[in-house]
Parts: sequence; C-alpha cells; structure tokens
Amino acid sequence: MLLSNPSENLNNISHQSSIIRHSTEYMNTNSKIYIAGHTGMMGSAIHRNLVSKGYSNIIARPIEEFDLICQQAVKEFFEKEKPEYVFLAAARVGGIIANSTLRAQFIYENIQIQSNIIHYSYLNGVKKLLFLGSSCIYPKNAPQPMKEEYLLSGELEYSNEPYAVAKISGLKMCESYNIQYGTNFISVMPTNLYGYNDNYNLETSHVLPAFIRKFHLGKCLENNDWNSIKKDLNKRPVDGLDGNADPDVILKILNKYGIGRSTSIRHPSPVVRHQRCIEPVEMSSVVNQPVVTINLWGTGNPRREFLHADDAADACVYLMENVDFKDIIERQTTDYNHPSSVIRHPSSVIRHPSSVIRHPSSVIRNTHINIGSGQELTIKELAELIKSAVGFKGEIHWDYTKPDGTFKKLLDIEKLSNLGWKHKISLKEGIEKVYINYCE
Ligand code: NDP
Repeated sequence: MLLSNPSENLNNISHQSSIIRHSTEYMNTNSKIYIAGHTGMMGSAIHRNLVSKGYSNIIARPIEEFDLICQQAVKEFFEKEKPEYVFLAAARVGGIIANSTLRAQFIYENIQIQSNIIHYSYLNGVKKLLFLGSSCIYPKNAPQPMKEEYLLSGELEYSNEPYAVAKISGLKMCESYNIQYGTNFISVMPTNLYGYNDNYNLETSHVLPAFIRKFHLGKCLENNDWNSIKKDLNKRPVDGLDGNADPDVILKILNKYGIGRSTSIRHPSPVVRHQRCIEPVEMSSVVNQPVVTINLWGTGNPRREFLHADDAADACVYLMENVDFKDIIERQTTDYNHPSSVIRHPSSVIRHPSSVIRHPSSVIRNTHINIGSGQELTIKELAELIKSAVGFKGEIHWDYTKPDGTFKKLLDIEKLSNLGWKHKISLKEGIEKVYINYCE
C-alpha cells in the first residue's frame, strides 16, 4: 500500500512502523521478481542465487528487446508485468578509463535507467526494490574504512564524478520515495566486485578482470601458445581486432595494453636462483632470453577491497529477504551511541541513556548499506595473487608515470554485519574460480 501524505509518511516511519510493514510482504519462492541487468555480472549472480534458493517466477528482458533508458518502454513493461520485487542491477559500468572518457554517457544513462525503474516501481506498487550503487559515492579523502555517514561530506574523485553523482542520486531517490511515498526501496553500495560474466575489455574493465586477462595473454605469449591467443581474441576482440589478424598486428595490440616481450638476463632454470647449497653460477648458464613482461599502471601500492559477485548477490538477496527500510531506520535511530546514526544534526536529537527522543524535524539520511568483505590488500599483492593463479612466469613492470588513483578504499561493513550477513568466498579461491571460468 502506498501512503499519500509526505509529512504523515515521515511520521509513520518514525513512530508507526507497522504501516510500513503493512506495505511489505516477505519475498517467497513464487513472488514475481524482476532483475534489471540480468545479463551483467551482478544481475546474473543474483539470478543464480535466487534460482539456487528455489525462486521460480523471475522475469528478465534482454537489452535488444527493452532499453531501460526509454521511459515509455519501462512504463509499459511495469504496467504489463507488475513485478512484486525488483533488483536494479542495470547500469553503465566501467573502470577508470571508461569513467574518465565516457563522462556524459555514464551520468545520462545511469540516471535515466535508475529513475525510470525506481519511479515506475513506485507507480506500480512494487513491494520492495534493491538498488545497486557503488563505493565510489564516498569522498576521495573520506576516512577509512568508509562508513555510510561519510556520504556527501567532501569532494568526489574527479575521474568517476559523473558516475558517482548518478549513483548518489539513485540512492537519494530510493530514500526520498520511502520518506514521501512510504515505499520500501533499499540501496546497497558494494565494494569492487569480480565474478562470472565480468567485463574483460582491456579499455573499459576494472582492475581485477583486466589483470586476469593480461596475465592470461602473457602466459599464452610466453608459451608461444598462439591457438589460445587467437581463441581469446575471437571471444573478446581488442580494438576491433580478432584472432584472425596477422601475428605481428596482434603483438602490437598486446603491446599497446602492456603485454610484450622484453630482453632480460635470466637464469635458464629457476633452480639456480633458489639453490640452498651455494655453488658458483657459471656465467655460461646465464643467458639473455626474452621475457614476457606485463606493464601495470602506478606503483602497485594503493590498497583495495574486493568481493566475489556471488557473495555480493547473496548479500542482496539476504537483504531483500530479511531487511526492510523501516528496519534500517529503526536500527539507526535506536542505536544512539552509533556514530552512523541517521540523525546527524546534533540539535535534532536528545540523547538519554535508555532511549532516543526524536525531534520532529530530525532528518533521515545515509540509509544505504555498504557491502564488502572488510579485507584489503595492495594492488601489488593482487597482481601476485592473479599471476600465481594464472600460472604466468614472466615479469611485472610497474609504470610509475601512470596515476595510482585513491590510495586506500575500504568499506566499513559494520552495518551489514549487524544485519546478519558475512562474505564466504576468499579472494584466492574466488580468483581461481573466475580464472577457470574465464578460460572456458
Ligand atoms: P555489468 O556491466 O556487468 O552489467 C550491467 C547490466 O546492465 C547488463 O546486463 C547490461 O545489459 C545492462 N544494461 C546496461 N544498460 C542498459 C540499458 N540501457 N537497458 C537495459 N539494460 C542495460 O555491470 P555489473 O554487473 O558489474 O554492475 C551491476 C551494478 O552493480 C551496477 O549498478 C554497478 O554500479 C554495481 N557495482 C558494480 C561493481 C563492479 O565492480 N562491477 C562494484 C560496485 C557496484 P547488456 O549486457 O545487454 O549491455
């Protein structure tokens, strides 16, 4: 049921939680569920998770049939299909290069897609919606780990500012519709994700899939395995070039993306390097042989957090099954000692040892939920992990002339942990699984 009077709704959220509960029924295996972006990494992971839990009434539409940018198409879809639950995982997504260069597309398409879906979900009585944002919504100099309350407390990272602004407007839209119309729309902000159906385009991909592909191609090159190189390019052409191109042209394109041979002094066998009983190394055993080198951007020192998309999808489904907007508000307002309380204005709350008395003008903010593993590592450590999972034996060259980006990005996941969810897939295990899938 949708509430009509905005101020009445705000009071209802604060004081009459049963009204919001009334608008919610828990998702069951027959519920009609729409996954927007079901072909993407997160959308397909959510789909797998739902199917594994027995959900059988899932609707999805391929982009060729249904462009979510088109308001009329979204309107007709919601009026016809009347989904009960919506996962909003459709978006224009990319790494640092795509974010920097496709600025207009990123802000326009994301705002358009999410506005259409959120608005028509509201108009068509969707019982619950989950909107996927991103950790880039936080200021570039936010204290670490980043708590939900740091939103809008400083300047954003320039490279992905348009994308971040779109995501912030999405979460604010969900929050505002909940406050004004009594909807039950939840926003989540996942950390860096990786998984099946990831984007391996060397121009637009995120760091982890880009490393997987570069090390894989590097391994093929050091093994002179041209069949695998051709197969890789046929499956995912680079700059319009597939595996049928001339080997010299292929080598040039690989070189452009930092995969190439360099001449380096190398011992013929690694045994010599690791020998414990020291024997003088014969100079004749040291040879000049070409080594495959992978060039990576920056110093490798920035620290990042990663989460497998299957874990992130599990968190999304968990929240859809167990947590309502009302619950988030209740937790934030009753935990008066909690620094991420939604009531940010000091004068709007009177703290008392046993209760929180809310001033009618108190504000509702920062109701989104971070999704992460809470664990971080350096980009250098990530590269070594992927190098080993792939089995690349060559060298890594760090290009210090290229930017590092933000030095540290770790989400504070206390809110999610308090709601009862924790990740299961370790980074090492996740990368190994994803690499097997990449090679299939
Ligand atoms: P993908 O690029 O893998 O998937 C995006 C999906 O959206 C695809 O199914 C794509 O369809 C669809 N889509 C894009 N534009 C349109 C359109 N105009 N009409 C219909 N469908 C469209 O992205 P992810 O799965 O990685 O990301 C999903 C969500 O998760 C995003 O909101 C993103 O911000 C968030 N997220 C992702 C992170 C990551 O590291 N990947 C990190 C944090 C958050 P098609 O394939 O046909 O183009």
